[in-house]
Amino acid sequence: MGDYLRPRGLEEALQALTRPVTVLAGGTDFYPARVGRAVTEDVLDITGIAGLRGISETEAGWHLGATTSWSELIEAPLPPVFDGLKQAAREVGGRQIQNSGTIAGNICNASPAADGVPPLLALDAEVELASRDGTRRLPLASFITGVRQTVRRPGELVVALHVPRPRTGARSAFLKLGARRYLVISIAMASVVVEVAEGKVAAARIAVGACSPVARRLPDLERALIGAAFDAQLGDRIEPVHLAPLSPIDDIRGSAAYRGDAALVLLRRLLAKVSA
Ligand SMILES: Cc1cc2nc3c(=O)[nH]c(=O)nc-3n(C[C@H](O)[C@H](O)[C@H](O)COP(=O)(O)OP(=O)(O)OC[C@H]3O[C@@H](n4cnc5c(N)ncnc54)[C@H](O)[C@@H]3O)c2cc1C
Repeated sequence: MGDYLRPRGLEEALQALTRPVTVLAGGTDFYPARVGRAVTEDVLDITGIAGLRGISETEAGWHLGATTSWSELIEAPLPPVFDGLKQAAREVGGRQIQNSGTIAGNICNASPAADGVPPLLALDAEVELASRDGTRRLPLASFITGVRQTVRRPGELVVALHVPRPRTGARSAFLKLGARRYLVISIAMASVVVEVAEGKVAAARIAVGACSPVARRLPDLERALIGAAFDAQLGDRIEPVHLAPLSPIDDIRGSAAYRGDAALVLLRRLLAKVSA
């Protein structure tokens, strides 16, 4: 067993990150990846740093601390633009996983099936990274670059996600398809945020997960919805061509063709759901 570090302050954690050390938050991805073998690397447990936990409102939007758990997110008083992220949080494993698993852990693990990623993309979330050299912020879409790959540098810690305030009243929703209803890895999932003004779509942000190495926004579909009446027919505007950015694969959970069909159905249902 290597060193186990559990600092109480961010500075101490960033100092620890100046040497090779693996970050540990809720451990719900970390430990399953090490079943049957001893943990030999040095570990930096960040759950003792109070400043990394919790959700607060800022002038520009909302600050989601890195170690905020899915349960804390579900219980937080947040406006309807967060409904999609909360619906995703309720689908991350069972209650025990939601109590331990963190928002930043989900994005740093960078699984194509990470349920938090599509709703955070639809929220236009930015990732804040800190190191001994300072901090930087970048869009979530630029942070995850491939299967289990992010642009996090050695020495950096994800400290928060930032969600901007929508310009107008916004609705959002998330839907996931798995082989059974609960406790399941997604075959496909999608999330939408629709900003509405005077009964029409003023802006839309739509993301699909588990249908490409990294969850993807669908910019052509987002543009096609602008100006449309915000009613039950909204989903009729979706054309298969809008899903062109996706590149689903065949695997044990579903074929590429099935995933593509599922994504289309999920999106139509989502738009019906938000406009209901
Ligand atoms: C039974 C079970 C069911 C699950 N079901 C789902 C599901 O339905 N949907 C889903 O999306 N996920 C699911 N998961 C995966 C997991 O629960 C989530 O991805 C969770 O959000 C991970 O958070 P964590 O805090 O536990 O991460 P950890 O396991 O602590 O860390 C995950 C990775 O991120 C890194 N990391 C963590 N925090 C930071 C940080 N702040 N800065 C830099 N690097 C960091 C770690 O080094 C590690 O590589 C499931 C897991 C289990 C065991």
